[in-house]
Amino acid sequence: MCGYATHEVLNQPGAMGEVNLYTTDAALRAAMRVFGADWAEARLTRCGAVTGSARVQELARLANRYVPELRTHDRFGNRIDSVEFHPAWHELMALLRADGVHALGWTEPRPGAHVARAGLAYLWAQGEAGVGCPAVMTFASVAALRHAPDVLGRFGEGILSPGYDPRPLPPGAKKSLGVAMALTEKQGGSDLRQTQTEAVALGGGQYALTGHKWFFSVPTSDLFLTLARTGAGISCFLAQGWRDDGSRNLLLLQRLKEKCGNRSNASSEVEFRGLEAVRVGEEGRGIATVLEMAHLTRIECALGSAALIRQALGLALHHAGHRNAFGKRLIEQPAMENVLADLAVESEAALWLSLRAAAALDASERDDSERALTRLLAPLAKYFICKRAPAAVAEALECLGGNGFIEDHVMARLYRDAPLNGLWEGSGNVICLDVLRALAREPEAGRALQAEIALARGLHPDMDHFLATPPPDPTEQNARRLTEHLALGLTASLLLRHAPPPLADAFCRTRLRRDYGLAFGTLPPGLRLPDILARAALA
Ligand SMILES: Cc1cc2nc3c(=O)[nH]c(=O)nc-3n(C[C@H](O)[C@H](O)[C@H](O)COP(=O)(O)OP(=O)(O)OC[C@H]3O[C@@H](n4cnc5c(N)ncnc54)[C@H](O)[C@@H]3O)c2cc1C
Repeated sequence: MCGYATHEVLNQPGAMGEVNLYTTDAALRAAMRVFGADWAEARLTRCGAVTGSARVQELARLANRYVPELRTHDRFGNRIDSVEFHPAWHELMALLRADGVHALGWTEPRPGAHVARAGLAYLWAQGEAGVGCPAVMTFASVAALRHAPDVLGRFGEGILSPGYDPRPLPPGAKKSLGVAMALTEKQGGSDLRQTQTEAVALGGGQYALTGHKWFFSVPTSDLFLTLARTGAGISCFLAQGWRDDGSRNLLLLQRLKEKCGNRSNASSEVEFRGLEAVRVGEEGRGIATVLEMAHLTRIECALGSAALIRQALGLALHHAGHRNAFGKRLIEQPAMENVLADLAVESEAALWLSLRAAAALDASERDDSERALTRLLAPLAKYFICKRAPAAVAEALECLGGNGFIEDHVMARLYRDAPLNGLWEGSGNVICLDVLRALAREPEAGRALQAEIALARGLHPDMDHFLATPPPDPTEQNARRLTEHLALGLTASLLLRHAPPPLADAFCRTRLRRDYGLAFGTLPPGLRLPDILARAALA
């Protein structure tokens, strides 16, 4: 102890240190095998080392503490409409793009490429979640841009390139490009039919867009997709941030949002004053075109929330494993063991469900029922996992006691981020209504889901009881009940077939049979909690 200290610092667990987030995650490794992406093992292992490194942990802290600042004008009074990011943001972006989180599903021809990419995204969401937003928008933009083959031909290579180049230059002058999307307006976010922005044809496939967007993340992106009204209805457009002559496109950044979480990322309010853009897809079918992109971003929300639960659980396990209270380590206290085991069940459940949705993307190219299923699994997984994440993160935070609530500890950041995936890309109700729509429009999707749940028939009495129980009626009022019912059934089926029996048993007895309380940590007696915790350990 140094001369001026009044006490020794004891019984504080200290930082978790470096950890390979892939090799220490037994459930993730198993899921990669089951869903046919184990060929990406070396890449995932590298990514796990990077995302769990002390360097990335520090970059994440810096990027969230020194948040982006709006620069509307230069010092001479010229408009520049720019955003200044901390260097940590750029370093994180460069690392993430080098890993291929924004591209792998399209660039790798092997089956399982979407699952492998999802695995990388899951790891990166634990490294720093904010950079996931530009990554997934860039990745998902390809689904919309396929409706404009000439545009994709021109920009596709830059979009998928592993490089990162934030310089404010026209897309044609750069080798790597980032894509964003600006859809939400003040009067209607979920209800995109209320879009007010007007598009006027200029000839030669060019349009001038006038209007505003109320939310627009990463407005410094090289390219962005947006919606505007033409005579034929709402249409989808692609704009360049910087025009070919090097000037800024007619995009005015009004404000940056002061956000509860996701603080490393810049989300803005903008106005278009004759923004130059080209149309993507059929005129008047813009919402359908951007929904193809939203389909992928919704799966990413599910993956991001699953990752958040895993990260929070890891921090809680670390703390409880190193802190003593009342004569034992916290993890040895039966009440704490119950909380941690319950969170571990939630974490692995979220992992399997989100990766199953990603696996449907891979299989949908060659299997019609998987194609139908992917339409249903995106909203199903998004709703269920994103709803569970805030409660799970809050519970994990409490495992750290007061430290969990203090900004120096990572948990406070996770807590502030936790509700976000639930609301963007379609909030809870909207997503559950989408589940109803998918079931009504593609009956094959419902049949495929039922068939997959039934693969676990005979594996657990609670599953058999579930299969004999009629689902809630598909009315709007029941939208959440029905979505939850289907998500629980599919998750239980996945766990019974692929996860260790003690964990699947705990899920079925609590979530299916409802032998459970209202908070985490209410697992009933008779479950094998040490086995569940051993599976979740970062070892
Ligand atoms: C940090 C952040 C970044 C964002 N970045 C972007 C971006 O880059 N680009 C972009 O376009 N948008 C972005 N958004 C916007 C986001 O996608 C929207 O906020 C979201 O889609 C919800 O739209 P809204 O805010 O207009 O809410 P509303 O659509 O008004 O919804 C409000 C509530 O009403 C519910 N509701 C709506 N319709 C129904 C119905 N029929 N029945 C029952 N309930 C209903 C919803 O579920 C929700 O709970 C961002 C938002 C945030 C917070």
